[in-house]
Amino acid sequence: MEAIESQPFRSLSENVGQFGLGNKTLLIPEMNRIGAHLLAGTFKGFGVNALVMETYKGLDLGKEFTSGKECFPCQVTTGDILFFLKKEKESLGEDFNPENYVFFMPESEGPCRFGMYNKYQRIVLDSFPELRKVKIGSLTSENSYALKGMIEKQQAGNFRKVAYFSVVIGDILDRLLWRIRPYERKQGATDGFIERSMMTMADFFESCGSKIDFNRIIDKLEEIIKEGKSIIDPAIPRKPLIGIVGEIYLRTHVHSNQDIIRVLEGYGAEVVNASVSEWVDYTTYDRMRKAKIDLRLNLKQFRLNKLKSYLKEISNHGVDLYYQQIRRDQAYKRVKPLLDLAEDHRVSHLEKALVKSDLYSFELGTEACLSIAGILEYIHQGYNGVVNVYPFTCMPSTITSSIVKPIMNREKIPFLDAPYDGTYQPGGEATIRTFMYQACQHFRRHGRKKHPQTFKVRTERI
Ligand code: SF4
Repeated sequence: MEAIESQPFRSLSENVGQFGLGNKTLLIPEMNRIGAHLLAGTFKGFGVNALVMETYKGLDLGKEFTSGKECFPCQVTTGDILFFLKKEKESLGEDFNPENYVFFMPESEGPCRFGMYNKYQRIVLDSFPELRKVKIGSLTSENSYALKGMIEKQQAGNFRKVAYFSVVIGDILDRLLWRIRPYERKQGATDGFIERSMMTMADFFESCGSKIDFNRIIDKLEEIIKEGKSIIDPAIPRKPLIGIVGEIYLRTHVHSNQDIIRVLEGYGAEVVNASVSEWVDYTTYDRMRKAKIDLRLNLKQFRLNKLKSYLKEISNHGVDLYYQQIRRDQAYKRVKPLLDLAEDHRVSHLEKALVKSDLYSFELGTEACLSIAGILEYIHQGYNGVVNVYPFTCMPSTITSSIVKPIMNREKIPFLDAPYDGTYQPGGEATIRTFMYQACQHFRRHGRKKHPQTFKVRTERI
């Protein structure tokens, strides 16, 4: 413990940040399973030895080295890295070298504790003398997850493009899974098919990614969608449609949310979860929005010296956002004619919906912006129920719940809060079953008919 006692904060700045990945093994935590594997494939294509760690097997370790007051995703990911390193040490023995590993743990700015996970995990790793030299590689939402220093400068731009595309393709594969599993001819066929497709796409990202050959990747995706479609039994009638919003880790990490999508499907639902690319777009959009505000403020105060840097920031984030939207549209445009997969939202559209409803503001930030606006969209698109999935005590999700509940009551659309902390609640499944009973009633009465926008139109700015 000497390093900590003599220089308590140095490790946080020296061993958490952006480090070169050459000759290192990049350890990727499995949040969204498909997304993690496609990202690992992308890293490999750019010469980085990346691997996706097993997840949830080290939850006991995660709980042992946290106090219980941290957000649940922090406990899970702390357990994942400790479990991996423990096993690695056992299998390599004397050859284990902590300097060979970089643990990938992005962060975000703002009021949320997500920005502190990697600092906390640094303290935990530092408490084991043999793990102090394991670095934590961090990207931040403050610069839209730019990769400065991690990938060689000349490759960084291309890497970011391909990494974003891997997130979009991961979203589409997830949407394919949720579209076909409730209607499969042979029970269990979808899971095996999606697992194989994920591995195939990860290989494609590894072989085509660094060549920026997006067309080959989409061609392969088209083949997968066609094959997936053949799993659907057309005789099974469409089912009530349930939308999921919430905290990104919990709603995409099937172990932490006790596989809520499968449970809902078991009670007769077809489910669509909010996408991961939506969050990446949101961080880019929000940086651009903030730079515009700073620019206006400086213009008003006639402080002209900083104008150039704000203009540059607006244009950089604007170009990134434009690129991301084009790539996403390109992928959806190719797959939509093959199968009616759920569409994704544009963040600017979500902000407009929020402004119009006068329910919340992007000024306040956090995932509540996306969740509240996402729920408004689900209502508008005729979903038969909405579930808000989050870690117990999660701040943005609690805000979301308090704001949307009265609306859902007024519109008579079933709504369920689903908080998780790793324990099994005795009445948990009964709650889901009751919610699904209501959703089925809603479906029987209204089908999936689009809902008129009845929300109050905002007339003045706060
Ligand atoms: S979004 Fe929720 S779970 Fe994530 S850091 Fe913030 S409070 Fe914690």
